[in-house]
Order: sequence, then structure tokens, then C-alpha cells
Amino acid sequence: MEEWNEDVLHEECGVFGVYKDKDAAFLTYYGLHALQHRGQEGAGIVTSDGMHMKIRKRRGLVSEVFHEEHLKDLQGIHAIGHVRYATAGGSELENVQPLYAKLLKDGFAVCHNGQIINAHNLRKKLEAEGSIFQGSSDSEIILHLIQKANGTFLEKIKEAFSQIEGAFAVLVLTKDSLYAIRDAKGLRPLSFASLNEGVCVSSETCAFQVTNADYIDDVAPGEIIGFTPKGMIRTHYTTACDHHMCAMEYVYFSRPDSELDGINVHNARKRSGMIMAKRDKDIQADIVVGVPDSSTSAAIGYAEQSRIPFELGLIKNRYVGRTFIKPTQEQRERGVKMKLSAVRSIVADKNIVLIDDSIVRGTTSKRIIQLLKEAGAHQVHVRIASPPICFPCIYGVDTSSYEELISARMNVDELCAYLGADSLRFLDIHDMKEAFHTEKLCCACFNGAYVTDLYDYQSIIERKPKK
Ligand code: SF4
Repeated sequence: MEEWNEDVLHEECGVFGVYKDKDAAFLTYYGLHALQHRGQEGAGIVTSDGMHMKIRKRRGLVSEVFHEEHLKDLQGIHAIGHVRYATAGGSELENVQPLYAKLLKDGFAVCHNGQIINAHNLRKKLEAEGSIFQGSSDSEIILHLIQKANGTFLEKIKEAFSQIEGAFAVLVLTKDSLYAIRDAKGLRPLSFASLNEGVCVSSETCAFQVTNADYIDDVAPGEIIGFTPKGMIRTHYTTACDHHMCAMEYVYFSRPDSELDGINVHNARKRSGMIMAKRDKDIQADIVVGVPDSSTSAAIGYAEQSRIPFELGLIKNRYVGRTFIKPTQEQRERGVKMKLSAVRSIVADKNIVLIDDSIVRGTTSKRIIQLLKEAGAHQVHVRIASPPICFPCIYGVDTSSYEELISARMNVDELCAYLGADSLRFLDIHDMKEAFHTEKLCCACFNGAYVTDLYDYQSIIERKPKK
């Protein structure tokens, strides 16, 4: 991965499924396209015509993995698909999803977004019982747990998920049924919508627009929804449910046109910008600039509230990430410049409020401020539309150690000096909840209040450095 892509949080996969539509593969392809921002390392689709299942998966973008002939070959009326960013397990093909268990009698396939946090013990136990794993992804555990469980397929799913801890939005496809399962804390989003005679299920509601589907409801925390020949079944695999949507889904991961638990992402971000502007009574600035694209909504909110004009002071080159495959050292050093350009005629001699969604390692923020100053900006006041990220995420976001998090090591004044900013402020947790119109959030990477036991991550979390 290129250096200029490393200093951002990475999305942790997206799932999309279709039940009962003759164009299941094509619709899933379009749905995965809409979810591409959640993972770019691999993509796959499994279909079923009611009797037989077919699969295609490869490393790469959705448009690279599937051409028209592949989709025509994926016959069937049911489908599940996945876009992958690897948080657990590598990016090798065995870990690209859907994972498919081919059995003597029938088979089934699994797509998973999130992270199983008791994976180590589950895998140890399964291996001791004779299970053989093909890859290193935690998602394969789901396949084995379902296969080993007893009873009807729905009972098997219940038994399997009652053993799994962590964050997940999972789709399971058999030859005639599709099941959607969400973790007991509702950390990862999952919604479903009506589609002609059938339904579709998606990590984000933005994918319903491209498939002309009408949103019905979210899968509730701890819920299993089965779309089966006997109709829709809604049940729970646990009664210990609670609601803690990942706050970073609102801050950064999800597309602005998605609704998460009924809250529009663009509006949530815009309100966070407005609240930051209300807190900034002492700023004399000429323009507001957002770091494209995820900070644009918050920058618009800040500008609207403060009456300081919003300007496109930074322009993003959208094609850098994948075309620039083997950078030389010199090109590496130009990393941020290749991805972002400061518009000299807009920023020169200006006092700027620079809005960014979050700070992870701090290297990108530092270079963006440098870019603006090299282009002639007079002052750069940085406002971050989320609290400082001080704790690793154990729920499927790739910040798994304190070393990666600059706010775990520096206080705000130290960080401001390191970045070369003229001032630095963060949105606090209380304001963030107000902006997102919900208290039902996971804020563990900001305050260390993990919403589950820590399981495999106990020792990592206990190693918090002193500031
Ligand atoms: S720790 Fe942070 S990134 Fe991870 S699920 Fe919670 S809010 Fe999201």
C-alpha cells in the first residue's frame, strides 16, 4: 500500500445480497460498486439458482473482478457479495470472500464485515476438533461453526453466532435461503430493502439507490433475518443485545448518502461542523476548506454556521491510489502532493479553517498543512470533526496498536506544534453525540470504553503508553 494511503483509517469490508430476483448477480455487482469505498483489495459473488451454487472471487476492484461474461455465468435468483479490506488475515485469495463450503449434500457461503474478537480460542478449539482452515481470515471460523452445529440451518446459525464475539454484519447463502446477521452491539451497519418480488440486504443504504430497492428496516443488534421459501423469519441469536453503532461509520467510513440506524451521514457530519463553528468564537478566518472527500460535509456545516465562505482550497486526484503502483523514493516523498493539490489562487494570503474528519498517525495532516502554507496560506487553523483517537479499535478497523495513533502519545498542544498548525481543536464526545443525534455509539477508540469484553485483545489494550 502506498505511503499516502497508510495514514487514513481503512474501511473494513462491505456486504450485499439479493434474494429472489432473476438478475441477482448483476444487482449484486451494482450493489458492491456502491460499497467499493469499504474495501478495494478483493471482491466476490456467490449465486444460487435454487439447486446449484456458483462463485467468482478475485483480488482487485469490483470492476476488475467482474466483466459482463462473468456475471452472465453467475446464474441464479439469489446472490451474496463482498468487497474486502483485510483487517484480520492477509489479502491473499483464500481470504477473499464470499467463503464457500462445498458439502456432499448442499453447500453454503458466507460474507463477513467486521472482526471476531474471540477468534483465537474459537479457531484453537475448532482445529482441536479436526477442522481444517484454508486461509487466515477470522471469517472462516463462521463457516466451520455453522457446519459443526446441530439442527435445522437456522438453528445451526443461532448456535454458531451465540459463540462469536465482536463486530459483524454477515450474510449466509444456502441454495434456497439468505440469512442476514448483525452483531449483538450493532457495531456494523446492515439494512434490507424490497426489490421487485424479492429483497436485498446491504452494509449501507446507499447501495439501495443503484438497485432501485426501497429501504424496509435495519437488521437489529443480535438479530437473524432469514429470507426463505417459507417467507421471512426474524429471530435473535442472543438476548444480550445493545446498540452501539461505530462512531467512525458516521465520521469517515460510510458514504454521505447512506442512512445509518435512520440517521443520514451527510447531515450528521454537517452538524458536527456547525457545532465546531459554534465553539470557535475567537477565530478570524477568510475561508473554510475541507480535506476532500470525507470532510466536505463537516466543512460545509462549519461555513454555514460561521458565515465564513466554504472554498475548494484542496483538490483531490481520484486516480492516484491504484494507478501509481511502484513509487520511487522521490515519488513516495511526493505522496500527499500527488493525491491532493492546494489551489494557490484560493489559499494564498488567507487565514484558513481546515476541517478534517480525524487524525490517525498525523503524517498526512502535517503534509496538508505544509501544502497550504507552501501555496501561500497565512494561517491554518485545524478543526477535527471527531475526538482524538487514543485507543486501538478491536472491532475491524485497522488501528490495532497504540504506536499507530499519534493522539495516544501527544496532547493537543504537542500535536498542534508537530503538525505546524496555528491552532488545533477536536470535536468532543458529547458534541459528537449531539451532532449524530444519537447516544447509541461505540466511542472506544476515543475513550477506551470498549462495548464488549476484550478477549484476544486484552494484552494489547493494557499496553497504553503514558503521554
Ligand atoms: S473503536 Fe472506534 S473505530 Fe472501532 S468500532 Fe468503536 S468507534 Fe468504531
